[in-house]
Amino acid sequence: MDVDRTKKIVGVDLGGTTFTVGVMDFEGNVLSRLDADTPVEDGPIAVMNKIVEYIDMAIEKAGLTGKDILGVGLGAPGILDVEKGINIFSPNLKWHNVDMVTPIKEHLGVPVFIENDVRVAALGERRFGAGKGRKYMIFIALGTGIGSGIIINGELFRGSIGGGGEVGHMVIDSNGPRCNCGNYGCFEALAAGPSIVARAEKAIKSGLETKIFELAERDVTKITPALVYRAAKMGDKVALDVFRETSYYLGLGLVTLTTVFNPECIIIGGGISKAWDILMPPAIQMVKTRSFPGSRDVVEIIPAELGDSAGMIGAGVLAMEKLEKGFTL
Ligand SMILES: [Zn+2]
Repeated sequence: MDVDRTKKIVGVDLGGTTFTVGVMDFEGNVLSRLDADTPVEDGPIAVMNKIVEYIDMAIEKAGLTGKDILGVGLGAPGILDVEKGINIFSPNLKWHNVDMVTPIKEHLGVPVFIENDVRVAALGERRFGAGKGRKYMIFIALGTGIGSGIIINGELFRGSIGGGGEVGHMVIDSNGPRCNCGNYGCFEALAAGPSIVARAEKAIKSGLETKIFELAERDVTKITPALVYRAAKMGDKVALDVFRETSYYLGLGLVTLTTVFNPECIIIGGGISKAWDILMPPAIQMVKTRSFPGSRDVVEIIPAELGDSAGMIGAGVLAMEKLEKGFTL
């Protein structure tokens, strides 16, 4: 379907602590960007009102008016009914059945589309980032948890009720640590940021000498993945062991994804991916030796390119692609 590509798109990346609003063109150039705190404690109406207010401000900051905007995309955590425009349940936002479309649509008078935040980041990386031109790709957000956006034959994979792609909850070790979801040994319980902190803490409590403890000012509650990374860069043996173990589990998860999906590439983003030089080589080595033959030879494991703009740009891409397909929600 023909869309007016001289018009602009608004992308919103809504998180539990902050949100980002950007205005962009169809080439992916960001014309304005605003970041703000998400007033979760004030409830969903206050959050949606603040988003609408920031959309107006971002449009103005780009030197535009509402008439220049063709559509809005919004990425948010949680389980979403993308057809009805409703956030069914989001623990991060403490939301149940929140209409995310109507407040924006009524204000701007343009179509508004929603999708899970990691899935939109995958769309962003596919159109304007590390996954350009790829038809089979998996985007992994490696942070406090592990989320994914899976693209199969050029289309976002959602599953029958929108629950597809929850790779963070693949069981990697049946005797592994408890996960936030209630299960044991999930991928994210073994390979996300908190597992790095937990391993460091365990080593310190067992009496091992490590720079991590000094860097944390001898307070284990101050340990962060970034701090463990700093210690590892200084050659600290405990920190290197922590990353070695984390890489092992990360590798196991990536082996499964490579074997099941036979992707052209797996793009790794999220805060923990900043430890790429230490974390990723052993995991990639495992993928190249333990994934199914054929798939392991073609898969490329590469860093994301859009950084902390992936969600916002991806939300814009969601809107662009829906409009290009003729949707008008
Ligand atoms: Zn889990």
